[in-house]
Amino acid sequence: MVTPHTNSLAHFFTPSSVAVVGASAKPGKVGYRVLEALVRGAGESAPPCQRRIYPVNPHAAEVLGLRCYPTVLAIEEPVDLAVVVVPAPAVLEVMQQCGAKGIDSAIVISAGFKESGPEGVERERQLAALARARGIRVVGPNCLGIIATGSGLNASFAPVFPSRGNIALMSQSGALATAVIDWSVQHNIGFSKFVSFGNGVDVGVVDLLRVWEDDPETSVIVAYVEGLPDGPEFMEVARQVSHKKPVIMVKSGSTQAGARAVSSHTGSLAGSEQAYTAAFLQSGVIRAHSVEELFDFAVAFAYQGPPKGRQVVVLTNAGGPGIMATDALERAGLRLASIDPATVARLRGRLPEASNFYNPIDVLGDADAERYNSAADAVLGDPNVQAVVALLTPQAVTEPKQTAEGLAKLATASDKPVLASFMGGEAMREAIEILTANRVPDYPYPERAVEALAATARYREWLEEPPDEIPRLSTDIAAVEAIFARARGEGRVNLGEMEAQEVLRAYGFKVPESKLARTAEEAAQLGEAIGFPVVMKIVSPDILHKSDIGGVRVGVQDAQQAQDSFELMMLRARRFMPNADLRGVSVQELVRGGKEVIIGSSRDPQFGPLVMFGLGGIYVEVLKDVSFRVAPFGPRQARKMIEEIRSAALLWGARGERPSDIDAIVGCLLAVSQLVSEHPDIVELDINPLKVGEPGAGAVAVDARITIQEAENGDGRW
Ligand code: ADP
Ligand code: MG
Repeated sequence: MVTPHTNSLAHFFTPSSVAVVGASAKPGKVGYRVLEALVRGAGESAPPCQRRIYPVNPHAAEVLGLRCYPTVLAIEEPVDLAVVVVPAPAVLEVMQQCGAKGIDSAIVISAGFKESGPEGVERERQLAALARARGIRVVGPNCLGIIATGSGLNASFAPVFPSRGNIALMSQSGALATAVIDWSVQHNIGFSKFVSFGNGVDVGVVDLLRVWEDDPETSVIVAYVEGLPDGPEFMEVARQVSHKKPVIMVKSGSTQAGARAVSSHTGSLAGSEQAYTAAFLQSGVIRAHSVEELFDFAVAFAYQGPPKGRQVVVLTNAGGPGIMATDALERAGLRLASIDPATVARLRGRLPEASNFYNPIDVLGDADAERYNSAADAVLGDPNVQAVVALLTPQAVTEPKQTAEGLAKLATASDKPVLASFMGGEAMREAIEILTANRVPDYPYPERAVEALAATARYREWLEEPPDEIPRLSTDIAAVEAIFARARGEGRVNLGEMEAQEVLRAYGFKVPESKLARTAEEAAQLGEAIGFPVVMKIVSPDILHKSDIGGVRVGVQDAQQAQDSFELMMLRARRFMPNADLRGVSVQELVRGGKEVIIGSSRDPQFGPLVMFGLGGIYVEVLKDVSFRVAPFGPRQARKMIEEIRSAALLWGARGERPSDIDAIVGCLLAVSQLVSEHPDIVELDINPLKVGEPGAGAVAVDARITIQEAENGDGRW
């Protein structure tokens, strides 16, 4: 069996010869449109193409003036690429013939595969097996095809050919792809390559990232995906590619929602949305939330690139839009640059008295092009300024066209990014065309310019970050395996507090001393031994949330109270959960003070173990103020998880709160990250709460629970 070769996929983008299997003479049929698109290529404006094109159709002698072949096997010359547009039931036979002909690359445009019911699913499986066995790389099925502007290739049924540029687009959706091409032509946005990979039976996101990483024609990669087959592989490749060029993605569609029952806080808060967000963050992928944003960001990267820092000037001829932009800056985490006194002096010499010389710089509504651009020139020369957002609204004496020309010249000469929002319709059309032609991206509203600029700024910061080294803590893996084996031996997958704390101890966690009391007298004795006051908790593998049934008492003062508490807890437990397996009551060291946080983990079908952090307690599921990362991760990501939650300031010691031991939380996050990575049979884990003391005091896991997989699968995986 031949495994798919990781070639450069060159035959898909620069084939010397292409066969169109299913070429049709009937206009309106896909087989006609694809052939016509191939013949037309980049159109009349481009130099004539030397590519050999072979229509294949047993029922025609000639299509579009080209000699037609009954099968690919009848073509005498070698064929680099087959474009398959026959009906689905005929695809497998055609692919067999392609294999026999020695064709190594095929685009299967035909629909009727896994998107269309059980029969299609089976057909797709066969297509995959055949392609693998024959060593044919396949794009599709159920796709629009491929366009490569550099080689003038249009192997698709897209009705228009986009202009040349440095953005490469991959799309899982074909319909979206046609819409994007159409729109890009209108807005004069250029592409290098364009791949609609449809069902992605073979070539998919990861392959395309790999080949575009080193593609000299591509400087920005954009992708529209609905799902990813292999999360960890994607993360590894995306991280590598993102270090060379920006990768911007829209992830839409819902993945298989957690159909399994979740019993932990973490499990109920962690969805595939959280997993994607974390995975993108950790691999440097820039996430866009709509197709609009995808291209807002793409042109900012393609035309201007990232600023050196977050200090931005807002330049405007109108107050309102200036304020909108300023608000957006703050929301996006950018800052208004403080203008250098020398620049203020220069502005004073150039602008009327009533102007605003401080950021946002308002050149007033009666500004002509000369005034506007003299201000732009001054701020671009300011050492405190790292980017400019230039706003213009059409007013009585505004000169949009001249302003655009001057601004474009200044932007080209400067190494600082300039993003524009020339607001308006017809009055601004020509000006916007001038800006775009000169690679100054223009956005219909200031907020969108600011968002795009912020995306580029974040990307630069990500590039500059040193790698997040994942530490290896020394842990007792065998001890954990033994605990899991014991539970499974008893037919249990839920580990209660005492067992879970044993597991955590093997990974270096501090846990309170606790002992199991089976009788009231024993509880009193254990209390004496540990030292009053103590905490007492009901112990049962069937009781997950102990407080809910009155199964926790904090601050048991003496032997008498210990005895009473024992009796009371057992009584309540028997009443509320008559069938519960009651083991007794644990007597536990009382941990004083500190903040309660939650650390949890659950398993994502796409990306594997996810780790969650948040402030603990009963509100966690209501407030959803939590952050996620895909494990394993290092201290940099752990620290970001803590900083990311909205209530993080409470941990730094805001509003009279005492500061918490952040280093200890980081240590605990890393330990959980390693624990769930080393034990893939952990399905869910909650440490709630972890009590965190003041800096240097450490953190104690006073409650924990773990759910494990029932048993190992036959293939050795969990
Ligand atoms: P539950 O199963 O209800 O979550 P916990 O063990 O988390 O039970 O206990 C409930 C609360 O009691 C905790 O959130 C914490 O505030 C407090 N608590 C539990 N154990 C201790 C302890 N050892 N020291 C101090 N407080 C504790
Ligand atoms: Mg708890």
